[in-house]
Order: sequence, then structure tokens, then C-alpha cells
Amino acid sequence: MEIYIDGQYYAQNKAKISVFDHGLLYGDGVFEGIRSYNGRVFKLNEHLERLYESAHAILLTIPISITEMEQALLTTLQRNHLRDAYIRLIVTRGVGDLGLDPDKCPTPSIIIIADTIVLYPAEYYEKGLDIITVPARRNISEAVNPRIKSLNYLNNILAKIEGKQAGVVEVLMLNVDGHVVECSGDNIFYLKKGELVTPPTHVGILEGITRNAVINLAEKRQIKVVEKVFTRHDLYIAEECFLTGTAAEVIPVVKIDNRVIGNGTPGTVTKDLIHDFHQLTQTTGTQIY
Ligand code: PMP
Repeated sequence: MEIYIDGQYYAQNKAKISVFDHGLLYGDGVFEGIRSYNGRVFKLNEHLERLYESAHAILLTIPISITEMEQALLTTLQRNHLRDAYIRLIVTRGVGDLGLDPDKCPTPSIIIIADTIVLYPAEYYEKGLDIITVPARRNISEAVNPRIKSLNYLNNILAKIEGKQAGVVEVLMLNVDGHVVECSGDNIFYLKKGELVTPPTHVGILEGITRNAVINLAEKRQIKVVEKVFTRHDLYIAEECFLTGTAAEVIPVVKIDNRVIGNGTPGTVTKDLIHDFHQLTQTTGTQIY
């Protein structure tokens, strides 16, 4: 595997960064998780835009342009001969001293790792997920804004640990007001009386690229999509529920906190959207070769 670090390519065992990098010391940096399908990078512009917006929000100036970043990412995929890949794009604050001050880090570092994708078991999609709400609340926007895809993922990791202890693969997170926000690494939707509902960005979510793609796909099917604040009760009485994310794509949820959702199997609208999403990933995207 060849890994890009600041304009150079390194073998996996030679790809190293400084222990003084503030990405390591403080989680000071931003990242993206991107996929390519069949030789095309899915929603590349949207991911790059979100990366640069996250960096802007934490006052981190990425030292190369968006076009140069796109080229670096495509070259990394080419050098690794990948067509179906998971790409991790990281920009750290760079090397500084042991203090917090980001001004002591003159040069942000860029890392691009392109690997093969590890898919979730097919069973998750066929049967649907059983998820629970965890005690760990999602970060409040005024502290670490969930809209920033930062290297500081401890909030989600703590939620994930609580889920693992309870034996589930994904967890539902609430904000401090008790409103449903998202899962540890996925956005959430439910269907009720023909309306597809998902939380708005201001409640404290990452504005998922998959989420936005699915909203478009639903609208193409003339399904009304509403972004509104809701509680767990709305999920418990939903007809269908699913999660969206780059890794998971669109994945059905059939049980939440032991309440069966709908008839306990993946719903028709969910299945239609899974179908549409697969089609979109196979037919669109930025050509690698
Ligand atoms: N929420 C969180 C907290 C995430 O980490 C992710 C994965 N990046 C998502 C939602 C889904 O976002 P996307 O569809 O852009 O992968």
C-alpha cells in the first residue's frame, strides 16, 4: 500500500508522522471518509467541500487547493490500483510543541490512505439492525460542533463503546435536550404516514453526504422529506427506520431500545432507497483512471 503524506508516497510501514503533530496530541485536525465504486469516487466534490469547510471552521488553512487535493486523492487510488476503495483523507494541524497553541504549528499535514473496503455483513441489510440509545449525549454545537468532521471523535467512540458493551453494532445518540440527533457514525431517518423525517443540521449532527444523497433520491420518488426535531417516541412508533453513511450506505433498522419498528423487517421505502442508492453509486462519480 502506498500512502500519501504531504506530497510524497510511502510504503505502509514507512508512513509515519511526528509525535508532536497536534492531530495526535489533541485531535486537532479534520478528516473525510470517502468511497469509490467501480473506478469512480462517489460524491468527491461534496466530501472535499465538507473537508475544506470543517478546516475553515477550526481556522486551519489547508496548504493545497481543492483541485490539488482532488488530484492527490485520485493519484493515490491509481498508485494503489484500486477501483472499489475506502479513502481516508486527513488534515492535521501539523507539528507544534506540547502546548495547545495551534499558532505553534506552521504547516498542516495532509495524509491520504486508500484501502480496500470492508463491507458490513449482508445479514445486517437483509434482517435490519437492532440498535439502542446510549447514555453518552452528542456534543453540543457550542462546544465541539458535530458539523465539523474533526479528528476529535471521542464523543462517538464513547457512544460506540457503550453500544458494544450492550452487544449492538450501532447506537442512537441524543443531544443534551433529549432530541434524536444521529448514530455514532451514521445519520438517521424514519418513515411515518408517507413522510420521511430526519433531524435538521442545527440539532447537532454531521451533515452526511449519504444523508443528502438519500434526501434527493427520496424526492425523486415523490416522497416528502421533512427535516424536523423529534424524540425517541417518534422512532418507536415509526413505520420504517434506516441509517445512512459512507461505510454503511443505507441500512435498515428494525428494533430500537427493544421496540419493534413497523413489522420488524426492512420496509418497502427503505428497500427502494437502498436500490436507488446502489444504482447511484454504480453510475455516478469522479473517474479514477
Ligand atoms: N454522522 C457521523 C457522526 C459520522 O461520523 C458519519 C460518517 N462520516 C455520518 C454521520 C455519515 O456521514 P457520511 O454520509 O458523509 O459518511
